[in-house]
Amino acid sequence: MELKEMNRKLKNHPEPKKNATGMVENVMEQFNTAADHINLNPNIRKILAVTNNELIIHFPAKRDNGDVEIFTGYRVQHNNALGPYKGGLRYHDTVDIDAARALAMWMTWKTSLAGLPYGGAKGGIKINPKLYTQSELERITRRFTYALGENIGPEHDIPAPDVNTNAQTMAWIADTYMSTKSPSERSTYQHVVTGKPVGSGGLEGRDRATGYGVFLCIKLWMEEKNIDITGKRFIVQGFGNVGYWAALFMEKAGAVMVGVQDAFASIYTSTGIDVETLYGHIKANEGSVQNYPEANQIDKDDFFGLDCDIIIPAALGNQITQDNAPSIKAILIAEGANGPTNVEGEKILLNRGVAIIPDILCNSGGVITSYFEWLQNRNGELWKLEEVMEKLETKLGASFHNVLRAAEERNIDMRTAAYIIAIERIEKAYVQRGIFP
Ligand code: NAD
Repeated sequence: MELKEMNRKLKNHPEPKKNATGMVENVMEQFNTAADHINLNPNIRKILAVTNNELIIHFPAKRDNGDVEIFTGYRVQHNNALGPYKGGLRYHDTVDIDAARALAMWMTWKTSLAGLPYGGAKGGIKINPKLYTQSELERITRRFTYALGENIGPEHDIPAPDVNTNAQTMAWIADTYMSTKSPSERSTYQHVVTGKPVGSGGLEGRDRATGYGVFLCIKLWMEEKNIDITGKRFIVQGFGNVGYWAALFMEKAGAVMVGVQDAFASIYTSTGIDVETLYGHIKANEGSVQNYPEANQIDKDDFFGLDCDIIIPAALGNQITQDNAPSIKAILIAEGANGPTNVEGEKILLNRGVAIIPDILCNSGGVITSYFEWLQNRNGELWKLEEVMEKLETKLGASFHNVLRAAEERNIDMRTAAYIIAIERIEKAYVQRGIFP
């Protein structure tokens, strides 16, 4: 599709309201709720309530026609008490300092909950990548990496894919970062990013790991509640890396996808949407579900109220709110995205008995396998797909049961339970080490 036509399409189908606003308030309220529950040491509360480092970079890159454009990139490092900063890079026009702050904090809780030796960071570029060619995106990515310089590094801060970035983006970052090192040690730096293509140091299975983790959490939750997943109807918001893989594993387990929403359109059919057929349509349709012939196009505001059992939000933050929570019919929300449910929306859902598997648990399959990729590169190993999936299932399964047990023992929701486990691990590290000097 021509860029001009894409511009027109975006104008006709504007994305829902910008959603960065309120994400920091959201994550802080979630943090404070958990901290209150455990009477978190007030000094540690002070430390965790702020981010360690925040970087805003304005950098130039050349368009294909030779014009120079200035872009704004962000990297926020929230906390590294447990190990190097870890978190994705997002290319989206909602990326700003607040979004990066909130997403960095979520990464700290996520890596801690998963028991990984990492802290939390996040960043990205404020950009609509659909308006740029591949070669322009390559130059933008490489120049941003160069500008980040030593603010990232395999033992310091390790980016990964997020919305609108993928294995190719990570390969460009790795190559640019490694190119700035001396030739004799270049190859020892490939774990500066995870989520690379398998041919360039990536891990077998990293592509499907987040979606598989979402599915696994749903499956384990259903088993706990003695509910058969076969025939259960689910809807997915965002049919990218996370949404597609989660849907595929759900379908394989016998569940039926009845609705999908992406940045351009929302579709629904009660008889079920075949995941691979929709994926094929998207590939041929500039990444959009729009005009999929086997389902009806519906109004975007009706999406979350569709008749279904499970909702998988796998797009952006603040999508399930006080505005649409009252109309939700599903019994379970499995948060593939980061921060998809705001605090007010969550209160309504919990009061109505709708369960939520929180993002820091539900989508942690990605960072768990990113850790495996990092280890693989660091140790000069090549892991097999079966090994990766088995280790992921063991680690995420243990996390899931820890959260569920904590929620039951304390009679609290799963998000607060997950936060408590995550925060207590970081608290312990601070208490043992003390504060320099
Ligand atoms: P992606 O770029 O592959 O896909 C994003 C999808 O969301 C696309 O289908 C896009 O059309 C859709 N989308 C964008 N804006 C939308 C809007 N306003 N309304 C509806 N749909 C919209 O991204 P991804 O990697 O699948 O990430 C999705 C979410 O999962 C993000 O919140 C990300 O932070 C989170 N996440 C991703 C990973 C990972 O490994 N990729 C890991 C953990 C969490």
